[in-house]
Amino acid sequence: MTLSDLKTGDSALVSKVGGNGELRQHFLDMGIIPGTVITKIKTAPMGDPVEYDVNGYELTMRLEDAGKIDVAPSTSSGSPFDGVDSERSVISKRSVVPEPVEGHSKTAHPGLGEGGRFHTKEDENPVPQGTTLTYALVGNQNSGKTTLFNQLTGSNQHVGNFPGVTVDRKDGVIRGYANTLVTDLPGIYSMSPYTSEELISRNFVLNEKPRGIINIVDATNIQRNLYLTMQLLELNIPMVIALNMMDEMTGNGGSVNVNKMEELLGVPVIPISASKNQGVDELIKHAVHVAYYQEKPLRQDFCDANDSGGAVHRALHAVIHLIHDHAEKAGIPVRFAASKLLEGDKRILYALDLDVNEKETLEHITLQMEKERGLDRSAAIADMRYAYIKNVCSQTVKKPHESKERIRSQKIDKLLTGKYTGIPIFIAIMGLVFFLTFNVIGAFLQGLLERGIDALTALVDSGLTTVNANPVLHSLIIDGIFAGVGGVLSFLPIIVTLFLFLSLLEDSGYIARVAFVMDTLLRKIGLSGRSIVPLLIGFGCTVPAVMSTRILPSERDRKMTILLTPFMSCTAKLPIYAFFTAAFFPGRGGLIMTGLYFLGIIIGILASLLYRKTLFKGEPVPFVMELPNYRLPSVKNTAQLLWEKAKDFLERAFTVIFIATIVIWFLQSFDLHLNYIQDSSKSMLAIIAGLLEPIFRPLGLGDWRICTSLISGVLAKESVVSTMEILFAGGITSALTQKAAASMLVFSLLYSPCIAAIASVKRELGARWAIGLALWQCAIAWICAFLLYVI
Ligand code: GDP
Ligand code: MG
Repeated sequence: MTLSDLKTGDSALVSKVGGNGELRQHFLDMGIIPGTVITKIKTAPMGDPVEYDVNGYELTMRLEDAGKIDVAPSTSSGSPFDGVDSERSVISKRSVVPEPVEGHSKTAHPGLGEGGRFHTKEDENPVPQGTTLTYALVGNQNSGKTTLFNQLTGSNQHVGNFPGVTVDRKDGVIRGYANTLVTDLPGIYSMSPYTSEELISRNFVLNEKPRGIINIVDATNIQRNLYLTMQLLELNIPMVIALNMMDEMTGNGGSVNVNKMEELLGVPVIPISASKNQGVDELIKHAVHVAYYQEKPLRQDFCDANDSGGAVHRALHAVIHLIHDHAEKAGIPVRFAASKLLEGDKRILYALDLDVNEKETLEHITLQMEKERGLDRSAAIADMRYAYIKNVCSQTVKKPHESKERIRSQKIDKLLTGKYTGIPIFIAIMGLVFFLTFNVIGAFLQGLLERGIDALTALVDSGLTTVNANPVLHSLIIDGIFAGVGGVLSFLPIIVTLFLFLSLLEDSGYIARVAFVMDTLLRKIGLSGRSIVPLLIGFGCTVPAVMSTRILPSERDRKMTILLTPFMSCTAKLPIYAFFTAAFFPGRGGLIMTGLYFLGIIIGILASLLYRKTLFKGEPVPFVMELPNYRLPSVKNTAQLLWEKAKDFLERAFTVIFIATIVIWFLQSFDLHLNYIQDSSKSMLAIIAGLLEPIFRPLGLGDWRICTSLISGVLAKESVVSTMEILFAGGITSALTQKAAASMLVFSLLYSPCIAAIASVKRELGARWAIGLALWQCAIAWICAFLLYVI
């Protein structure tokens, strides 16, 4: 029997984890190891994926992947924690925690968790004065990293990208300690990289050698969170553990014996609540202390000589001796390298550059371990780590009774991911977001801003007239810069409002549910559930849609989603549709507009199928995702995010868009002899449009005025209609046939996104992709319009 056969509400005992490679490793890292009890909670409305309870947290995976996990019926019911304990103790008898390693006992951190009582080691080794203390902030997803980061740094932060990839890299100085720098890394569950983001986090810790690690651990989900901690401790880098969400933990009757946990783990453990800013000051003191004195973790040896016959222990120590010199040469902590090698990590094997005999010896040691332990290599190592964690937890953690938050989440989920309610509620929520953004809040703010820009324009305009400014300069400032940048700027309120809602949905935990509900649908076009959000936002505006793809966990999914967003017809195209349907298809406007929206979606689906076969071969990242409890988003996080997005957009408005505006203005206002002209039919733009005319003739659009309007539409779709109104002066119906108007509509739907959107794509994927996308869209638009026109 496999996990996919389990019925809702039933529990089973994992007997074997199948599958291979990174997916399998990921299962193990998420706590799915032989002996774990898993309960099926529910199936998504469309029949796939499925939600399970694993060790007290909620995990979703696709049926196909669940089919790789063999289970045996479990007799236990009740709390999954108790279940794990009783079942596992049958499988292996654990000894008590090993004695502290000899020679280290005198350098323990007694009382480190109690404010202010620092311990000075005899062999202390402070970094030279003036060295910047760099920290990596590492933890599971949804453990509160971003919240803690914002608390640590306040507003002293800088957002950039990790080199070579478009993954947010946030650096910040800890408040009150000028000589520090914390980096917020993407959330990871293990040091076995699974997604590209996880690889970034691992490489950061291994290669950039931070002076210290701040490991944030979600106390409400402590077993799985400590799994990462085990691996971080092996790195031999000074570290502190921030035990987060303590408010929830204690609020539900749980508690942690912090001093005991410090003793068992060998690093300071500081209970905090990031969202309530409790314990953060103390955390900072300890973080600075361990990094300054370079206090390494006191314990790295978590394998127990008595655990299940000690097979893993012996193998690990053998490998440590075997590879010691290679690990030192490669600059990889030896204990870490050894456990990764035993797990079968190819990247580390490659980095260590072992010779043939050593590789053979390694393989023999591993095989012997598998044989003695009765588990394969990855499972054996994962089991060893979880055994130690269970030991630590049983001595230090008083489990909370089922938390209010969990019960509340389950109640909310009855509706939000319910079989009949999930999808309708999702549609309603997105509808409400759009309504509020485009009709109420965003529109109101946009109106205000537009009025402000108009007033400023009028003021500068009259000022320039009174000082008798050069007409070219006058036109550059008013028609070029103010009209162009001002037009794009008026998007800002819409973008900020959309991101406000998006960040509320994301931080509360709802987006993860959306992914769960919509996965089956999106999977058909080679994406996973999360991509639905950017695609939907694309119906509002492509710019925030592209920006929002950062919530996607894989680079491949992100790229593909970005390339699909322009097919979702944005609101700025509505005036074009309205203009042409009113002029050419009176009375059939609604039908034609609906048709256009659907055409966009259909072409998008076809494009995605094409991308899947060409650019993005291979499968999307398997969908193994945690559903966090619903939590109240923090005001600070939300404000920070809005500020980042606004800044990001403004930066673009004043660089790429500013330049593009001036170029278009220049082409529009000068003729080939660089004379400043009033009659736009002689402008360079008109001449370029004239050159393009033959290209548009097969579409029935061989008129330089149409071409000019379309070019101006690249600046902003709104200006297609305004340009046309000026150039045709009301005579549009005599200039085009009905068929040509239809082809114009299709072309406008599909051709290059506006410059603001192109600039967003450039920011995410680079200039080549951005230009490529613009040209590709034009090609698709041309083909579709042509087909429509000739048929
Ligand atoms: P990240 O994914 O690790 O960056 O986690 P976030 O910082 O986005 O936090 C996830 C959610 O947990 C947010 O809704 C936070 O407001 C919430 N949160 C963070 N820290 C705490 C805490 O100490 N207590 C409680 N109750 N909630 C928290
Ligand atoms: Mg975060």
